[in-house]
Amino acid sequence: MQVNCDIVRDLVTLYKDGVANAGSVTAVREHLAGCPDCRRYYRQYDAVSHTLRIHPRPAGSSVADTGGFNALAVRLKKRRTVSNAAMLGLVGVAAGALLLWMHSAGKNGSSPDDRL
Ligand SMILES: [Zn+2]
Repeated sequence: MQVNCDIVRDLVTLYKDGVANAGSVTAVREHLAGCPDCRRYYRQYDAVSHTLRIHPRPAGSSVADTGGFNALAVRLKKRRTVSNAAMLGLVGVAAGALLLWMHSAGKNGSSPDDRL
């Protein structure tokens, strides 16, 4: 069976895991024998799968549950919390200044609009 590189690269995972059917195994082997690009792809896939076997993901973790993403999410949440607190503080200071200004304007017997 003559197959192109895209099909072989899709089949490499099945081939490597030993679950490809006999026809696919033959097609992948024949293609790898004559295609240096796909042989390189296969070696890279083999190296990655070997690394994953040596360093398995901790039990109970999911794909999204990696330390890098979790650390980034925590940092972003902290930054957002600090930003929200700063904004709340600014609004409070502005409201206080407005009240103070309105209060002092009231003592002088004039409305804040008279000062403009
Ligand atoms: Zn190829």
